[in-house]
Amino acid sequence: MSANVVRLICPNLKCRKILSVPDTARGKKVRCRGCGMRVQIPHPKEAAPVAPAAAPPPDEEAGA
Ligand SMILES: [Zn+2]
Repeated sequence: MSANVVRLICPNLKCRKILSVPDTARGKKVRCRGCGMRVQIPHPKEAAPVAPAAAPPPDEEAGA
């Protein structure tokens, strides 16, 4: 639990494969395993769609 994982969808419409890359790969380009297309990994400032970075789900009804 040291590095976060960035998930993004391959921009290739014929692929649309979900790519999981380490957080350290931000700003770099990774190659899609599905189609081999290079995908730019956005920086956290630019990418604000989903992914609540460090927000563990609260325990529901913990105790009484
Ligand atoms: Zn792809």
